Amino acid sequence: MTDRKDELAANLAKVERRIAAACAAAGRERDEVTLIVVTKTYPASDVRMLSELGVRHVAENRDQDAAPKAAACSDLPLTWHFVGQLQTNKVRSVVGYADVVQSVDRSRLVTALSREAVRAGREIGCLLQVALDAEESGREPGGAGVSPGGRGGVVPAGIGELAGLVADSPGLRLDGLMTVAPLTGRFAGRQRAAFERLMDLSTDLRRAHPAANMVSAGMSADLEEAVAAGATHVRVGTAVLGVRPRLG
Ligand SMILES: *Cc1c(COP(=O)(O)O)cnc(C)c1O
Repeated sequence: MTDRKDELAANLAKVERRIAAACAAAGRERDEVTLIVVTKTYPASDVRMLSELGVRHVAENRDQDAAPKAAACSDLPLTWHFVGQLQTNKVRSVVGYADVVQSVDRSRLVTALSREAVRAGREIGCLLQVALDAEESGREPGGAGVSPGGRGGVVPAGIGELAGLVADSPGLRLDGLMTVAPLTGRFAGRQRAAFERLMDLSTDLRRAHPAANMVSAGMSADLEEAVAAGATHVRVGTAVLGVRPRLG
């Protein structure tokens, strides 16, 4: 156990150095960027050690794994982010522990989140997940505007309408935008350009919703590009916890 904690501490220190260096290179203050550690597939004991090591934000992408983990860690001062594709039948469970849902991408999900947040007496922060690989698919915003990559996300043209819906929904707070660097389309292999596009979309969003200033972008492999582009939150899994076993 101590070995594991030492390993996590060393990995965290490395990630911290990377974020600090990226901030310095971009002329940004270190406190402009928040580290979210993605603990998916790793046990509650790791989450507990991370908390003891000073981590304050964790993220999960599957409710089946996250719900028991969050329950086992409910005594810890952690903010829980949900970053996975979310089916409406899981919303009640997710609203029970998530403080922020970063994968809001369709109106039916907004309706379900609002209903369950009100029912639970909670306020849930919402980030709209943007599908940058869907930019040129020509699909309509709204229900059909999902990413062809199958990873979810609203098309850029659909952000305004979905943001308005979140902002008008009781129990929900519009916090900003999130993306995963696309593997296909014109941004494939061009993380920096993708994250800069997300920043432009964030600037547009903040004209109508000034408080929605979170920009969640960047993972273990591309956090530097995200910080350079202006991300406020990076989501790092592998670089802190190790390479995940492949899920079936
Ligand atoms: C798993 C995951 C991450 C972390 O990815 P790593 O490459 O392990 O750092 C970030 N964001 C989302 C949405 C994820 O599912």
